[in-house]
Amino acid sequence: MEPEINSKRLKTLLDGINAFGRVKHGGFNRTGFSDADMAVRDWFAREMEADGLIVGRDGANSVFGRYGSADAPAIMVGSHLDTVVSGGAFDGALGVAVALECVRAMKEAGFAPAHPIEVAATSEEEGRFGGMLGSQTIAGLVTRDWLESAADADGVLLTDAMRAQGLEPKAILSSARPKGSVRAFLELHIEQGPVLEREAIAIGLPEGATGIVNLHVRLTGIANHSGTTPMDMRADAFAGLAEIAVQIPDMIAASGSDDARITIGKVELVPNHPHTIPGEAVFTVIIRDAREDVMRGLQARITEVAGAVARKHGLSLYIEENSFIAPVAFDASLIDMLEAEARRLGLPARRMISGAGHDAQTMTALCPSAMIFVPSRNGISHAPEEHSDWADIEKGAQLMLAALIRLSAG
Ligand SMILES: [Zn+2]
Repeated sequence: MEPEINSKRLKTLLDGINAFGRVKHGGFNRTGFSDADMAVRDWFAREMEADGLIVGRDGANSVFGRYGSADAPAIMVGSHLDTVVSGGAFDGALGVAVALECVRAMKEAGFAPAHPIEVAATSEEEGRFGGMLGSQTIAGLVTRDWLESAADADGVLLTDAMRAQGLEPKAILSSARPKGSVRAFLELHIEQGPVLEREAIAIGLPEGATGIVNLHVRLTGIANHSGTTPMDMRADAFAGLAEIAVQIPDMIAASGSDDARITIGKVELVPNHPHTIPGEAVFTVIIRDAREDVMRGLQARITEVAGAVARKHGLSLYIEENSFIAPVAFDASLIDMLEAEARRLGLPARRMISGAGHDAQTMTALCPSAMIFVPSRNGISHAPEEHSDWADIEKGAQLMLAALIRLSAG
């Protein structure tokens, strides 16, 4: 008997997860270390115990359920159970539910894996405290300094939030999995973008996740009366900003790639008054691409353009790199295997790049990792409207099951 995904059982499991943190007017609140987040983990652990898995937790309160040998290196599969505030029903929860359904399907068919399979429900992926705590803990990337200083947007310390739930934060520092103890990590996740839906393809295979350069830019001109200052005698900081912004498509065309994105998402004008020429424009520029050399090329290009625009408008320019997150490549042979399995199952799949952050990219620090994306309706995520069609979810789950059978067969 071949293991097969039981769609009804999978849906019941996802509904079970989403019984926790449900908000009356729509959406779900299971932010990291909230009461709902704690409760869903207890429930999920009990589900896995009832399935006869070897269930445990680590210092970050990620929950694990192992099918097969207790100590041999495992193939880990899963995603996160926490949500953003007013999050949707699929982000994270779907990947956890699919992981356990794959194991249930194997058990039901009497399939005994040569390499154990470990279902993982990671904690605090959505970054309430500014990281991806669950997968960073597994991969051994959490430092003592960060752990002690991490706080949420309301100033609540991570250590206090954990202690309030009876958890000891220091346990995080001794929860790293040893190198070699995880053979591979696979994560099914919703795309959170519009590409798969637009192309009517059920499965996306991310080759990597984009990196991020965060630039802080200030253009300084002269604030002055909007009526008395002739147009040719102004040093208008907003005019400079606008001229930079309008050149973004050309910069991408000249120095970017299909995956490149440049966004000016936060702008402050000084003094920001209708009758005053803006004397200062302070703004962010976020550059994303899947390749570091492309990101650096775009950074050089925007610096050059901003310099030329500043000279033209009589402005002074200050530009500083706030942060840099390197792009991550998923494991090429895992992607090839997923693509081959999709072809064998007759499931149309498309390689792509993930524009959002996921546990799988953190896990590349520990073991070969890869992902399966399923389409998001209208590309919407992190909102109550988040939705994926059940027909697509079934295809993604079938592919995950096939991949786990391949990887665990020895
Ligand atoms: Zn997610």
